[in-house]
Amino acid sequence: MIEELQSEGFITSKIDDLVNWARRNAVWPMPLGISCCAIEMMHFAGPRYDVSRFGSEVFRFSPRQADLLIVAGTVTYKMSKVVRKIYDQMPGPKWVIAMGVCTVSGGIYRTYSVVQGINQFLPVDVYVVGCPPRPDSLLKGLMMIQDEIKHDRPFKRGTIIDSASNQQPIEIPIPVIEGPATWAMPAKHGERKIITV
Ligand code: SF4
Repeated sequence: MIEELQSEGFITSKIDDLVNWARRNAVWPMPLGISCCAIEMMHFAGPRYDVSRFGSEVFRFSPRQADLLIVAGTVTYKMSKVVRKIYDQMPGPKWVIAMGVCTVSGGIYRTYSVVQGINQFLPVDVYVVGCPPRPDSLLKGLMMIQDEIKHDRPFKRGTIIDSASNQQPIEIPIPVIEGPATWAMPAKHGERKIITV
């Protein structure tokens, strides 16, 4: 690309690629640090690991301004309603990273009070496992989200707004403590990936 720019003075590209280049380098995370994994998530944003290299240093504490939900920590049934509400308030297109084995599967908390994996009430795009995962594993998860965005075709479906069409509000019952677990698996909007550390 640089050679083309130097020799011709211009480059050619597709509008999809141009838009996706901008979108994937400006993913704004909503950090949901629920327990100890949050400490590693803070390192992810700190100077040593420096997520600003990937354009995602703008952590948003309002779901309406974020497009990546990072759930880091143990999610109890009581908390699951809050997590789901935050997800529902985010505008699409949006992505979810489950950080840490507690978030991914309940981890060591095989108890009545802990949800055994947030994919029971959220569509998770990337699972970052570990207890806790290292910040560089979370960076790798972000890069996988960026790769997902890179191959998106927003204009193929009409407009960029329509690119959220496969991310309509999900019809998944929020888990309840009472009664047997009868939750449906969420609709996926991307290939699920597991990162091991
Ligand atoms: S995975 Fe480990 S570090 Fe993360 S919330 Fe669970 S117990 Fe804490």
